[in-house]
Amino acid sequence: MSNKSGSRTSRRDFIKTTGTGALTAGLGPFFLPLERAQVVSEAALLELKKQLRGDLLRPGDGGYNTARSVWNAMVDRRPAALIVRCAGAADVISSVNFARTNSVPVSVRGGGHNVAGSAVCDDGIMLDLSRMKSIRVDPVSRTARAEPGVLCGEFDGETQAFGLATTGGACSETGIVGVSLGGGFGWLMRKYGLALDNLMSVDVVSADGQLRKTSSTENAELFFGVRGAHSNFGVATSLEYRLYRVGPTVLAGVALHPLEKAREALKFYCEYNSKAPDEMSAWASLLTSPDGHPMLAVLACYIGSSEAGEKVVQPLREFGPPVADTIQPMPYVKFQTMFDGGVPRGRYNYWKANLLREFNDDAIDRLVEGFKSVTSPYSSVLIAHLEGAVSRVRKDETTFSHRTSPYNIVIWPMWTDPVESERHIKWADELWKAMQPFSSGGVYVNDLGNEGEERVKAAYGINYERLVALKNKYDPTNLFRFNQNIRPTVRKSS
Ligand SMILES: Cc1cc2nc3c(=O)[nH]c(=O)nc-3n(C[C@H](O)[C@H](O)[C@H](O)COP(=O)(O)OP(=O)(O)OC[C@H]3O[C@@H](n4cnc5c(N)ncnc54)[C@H](O)[C@@H]3O)c2cc1C
Repeated sequence: MSNKSGSRTSRRDFIKTTGTGALTAGLGPFFLPLERAQVVSEAALLELKKQLRGDLLRPGDGGYNTARSVWNAMVDRRPAALIVRCAGAADVISSVNFARTNSVPVSVRGGGHNVAGSAVCDDGIMLDLSRMKSIRVDPVSRTARAEPGVLCGEFDGETQAFGLATTGGACSETGIVGVSLGGGFGWLMRKYGLALDNLMSVDVVSADGQLRKTSSTENAELFFGVRGAHSNFGVATSLEYRLYRVGPTVLAGVALHPLEKAREALKFYCEYNSKAPDEMSAWASLLTSPDGHPMLAVLACYIGSSEAGEKVVQPLREFGPPVADTIQPMPYVKFQTMFDGGVPRGRYNYWKANLLREFNDDAIDRLVEGFKSVTSPYSSVLIAHLEGAVSRVRKDETTFSHRTSPYNIVIWPMWTDPVESERHIKWADELWKAMQPFSSGGVYVNDLGNEGEERVKAAYGINYERLVALKNKYDPTNLFRFNQNIRPTVRKSS
């Protein structure tokens, strides 16, 4: 192999001499450290660059480091080939065609919030869609169409301008695309279903470079798969949602109990939830308060009429009583930002999660006991109550098969010093193991870290084989492998 000056180089030298920041000094070929190593020609890169409305970034370029950094500081990957900051669907099509032609696998970034950091790859191309931010709300048909760079808070802001909303994540900085194409838990789910239940259509660019509209009537099988399998079948370029009348004011806030009362408070919480109307969502969190006290927080959001609401929240105000109760009428958009401060970008995070079969007294005892040995003041355990509309969808109707699980639990260590990683992870793993007798065996795909194929199967449950068939059809070479990967069985990955 020879470099531009014609001298002989090894493959490693080749990376060093022509593969770094080549775009700043003119395009240069690059070498990818893949199983079947590739050299992508200068001409191919120039051709791609000409086609793009967005930016093409190489290591060393301004913006490259910002584009590759995601919410979880544990993730520090460097797309060796390039990052394409797509400006629209045409850029996605060009990039996918480029990737396929050159056998370079693709990762896709939306909001960059996924704990596994699957939006970013080392050996491949990253398509960064975070600048694709258009949202169009149609208040008459109560629908919204949004691009995949939109964040939950941005989506809420647009839809709430019309008094409308749909289920989305409980943190304003999470991307709508990852939330919806993984499932979508939020304060509206017990009344209106998961985010993916409310997707009406999704435009997808598959590995063959074709953009397909998918809906219940067009490419219906692909529509089934896309709603839950993230980028496994391609890149979503537009998402259409069903909206509902919500707020703009809801009755929401937090009731806090000291850890010593957490057992009885959680038992009351489960009892309360078993009778709560679908308009009420109450989640719970074991956490440490900013002044250092371990607590149980009950996070509540009631989206029904304000008259009925006071009666519904009354038991939450009375039990204990809580040492603090902030439940009050507030704008839905405000409640949707309330927890942002506790989950800032740039901290080290690790999640270990499961759907529960039951959250009985033994499970509560074990969880509270386990939280007593928490290793970081930023760590928490999040308990989300499902049921309601979530449970009224058949298990095989969407990729999310865990319709009968009453609770989802995420053990969530968070810390600031990477030197400490091992002990925080150990705490989570041990508590997760202790909770296994109560697990349904299922896991929410958006909660998965890099945990291997068995856990991906656990995420899709009875729907897994159907998704493998779709993968075989739409991505047989596994071009889209940086995700909770559904491995094709027809051909070996390229
Ligand atoms: C602080 C915090 C709060 C959260 N709260 C909630 C919550 O309330 N409810 C909930 O359900 N989840 C929640 N989550 C989990 C969240 O749903 C997932 O992390 C989700 O994957 C994030 O989506 P994103 O677009 O931000 O992520 P990204 O990291 O950008 O992407 C996530 C996955 O989606 C794929 N993807 C991205 N863009 C596309 C595209 N255009 N087409 C196809 N695939 C694509 C990526 O390849 C990746 O595998 C939370 C996460 C965090 C960190």
